[in-house]
Amino acid sequence: MSKVSTLHKVANQYFVDELNQSPAACSVAGSGDDGWEIVIGLEVHAQIATKSKLFSCSPTEFGSDPNSQVSFYDAAMPGTLPVLNRAAVDLAIKTGLSINGTINKMSQFDRKNYFYPDLPAGYQISQLYFPIVSNGYISIELPGCEVRCINIERIHIEQDAGKSIHDLSPESSYIDLNRAGVPLMEIVSKPDMRSSAEAMQYVKKLRTILRYIETCDCNMEKGNLRVDANISIRRPGDPFGNRVEIKNINSIKFLGQALDYEIERQIIARESGEDIVQETRLFDAGTGKTRSMRTKENSDDYRYFQDPDLRPIILTDERIEKIRLELSELPDAKKTRFIDEYGLSAADADVLIEDKIVALNFEKAVKASGFDGSAKLIANWIIGELFAFLNKSGYGIDDIKFPIEYIAELVDLILDKTISGKIAKTVFARMVEINEKPSKIVADLGLVQVMDDSVIRDVAQGIVANNPDQVEKYKSGKAQLFGFFVGQCMKSLQGKGNPELVNQILHELLD
Ligand code: ADP
Ligand code: MG
Repeated sequence: MSKVSTLHKVANQYFVDELNQSPAACSVAGSGDDGWEIVIGLEVHAQIATKSKLFSCSPTEFGSDPNSQVSFYDAAMPGTLPVLNRAAVDLAIKTGLSINGTINKMSQFDRKNYFYPDLPAGYQISQLYFPIVSNGYISIELPGCEVRCINIERIHIEQDAGKSIHDLSPESSYIDLNRAGVPLMEIVSKPDMRSSAEAMQYVKKLRTILRYIETCDCNMEKGNLRVDANISIRRPGDPFGNRVEIKNINSIKFLGQALDYEIERQIIARESGEDIVQETRLFDAGTGKTRSMRTKENSDDYRYFQDPDLRPIILTDERIEKIRLELSELPDAKKTRFIDEYGLSAADADVLIEDKIVALNFEKAVKASGFDGSAKLIANWIIGELFAFLNKSGYGIDDIKFPIEYIAELVDLILDKTISGKIAKTVFARMVEINEKPSKIVADLGLVQVMDDSVIRDVAQGIVANNPDQVEKYKSGKAQLFGFFVGQCMKSLQGKGNPELVNQILHELLD
């Protein structure tokens, strides 16, 4: 099954100068369960969104036939040499800038030696001693909690390994080297998280940032964002305890489950007097448990040394500044602006900024609306009805077949009192079904709101006259019957009566 398809040509290597950016420090706080403090640090492997591999020209496309994207270099054929992919370096720099990191003047590649069939060279090229980024941080926020900074120790660039396939045959294992040499950024946090919820929020936030700056697709199902979770417990004030590393977690939900299981396991062990051994564990999504895989290696075990085939990466100020200019508005800045500019609540702003495309669509709709101050209502319709529709239909925001401006039009029809909010839901349902303009749907279905005082008054008088018993009860104090009269009026107006007018006229007639 193993086959090397193409030999790829090497491109130019480059050497340049660099600039340092001042690091920012953040404080660490938090507390854990039953007098235990939980300590979590995450290593996130994010596939750098390049078209070709880190040191060869093989494509990185997902889902191709096994071993169809393997050059002689990727298969570690003797005599082949690595050629650094410049785009991968630029995207790692961009990522470093977006997490407030220091872009290092000089970084270099090291060989991490270990034997495994999916690693044909017998070593992985990574950056141990001089990573490209140091000392960043991102902020996270949990409902009802203060904003917390999670420090990021480093980002280094490395190659992915291939994949062993054990379930195709009872006798043999197979190797697919398509992933071998795919560029990764390993984003290593400090042990700053204090609960599984914080760890989940950290990965979510990181994912939002990487998607904003388009340096990683962050599709966890396709494996292009994977998390190794390190976790230990201690009594507050004690030094850090031995940590366990849970490898290769590929969903945020599983991350939470794996950590919760491990927290409980470690607390039970410690309370019954056992020590926690430093080891690597695997999470089994089927059982929700972690199990031991191997005792943890230390970096000595890998016999790291500088890769003699690759010169250091030296960056110029110019190159870094050019990349800084390409950074668009980041999620935190967008959130603050949405709150200031549109008067949104922090919670609504959070939901809208999580996906850059949603945020873009929201602003497009606000611009299309003819009313100042319609932004909050537009936000409600996007977060409420539109998201419910997307959930139900399985569509993403990109898949909707009507222009987002239709939401603005719908909101404008409510604000200019052409339709009530209730009728608007009917119009919305029709709109997503036939992708037609709200105004056209309102006209075609005759849904224009009844605003005529005399029409509503006639109807209301009829209802009052036909229900003497209810009127009697209402007048003798059964105030909740008011809703009955409103309901009856709306029914005979086919739901189109202006709710304020209906209420006002009924109060006049009954009170
Ligand atoms: P390695 O590269 O061998 O996995 P590192 O020392 O670089 O080890 O740490 C990897 C991750 O483990 C980092 O994210 C760090 O924050 C986290 N970590 C280190 N010590 C602890 C600890 N005692 N408890 C929890 N996490 C830890
Ligand atoms: Mg590690």
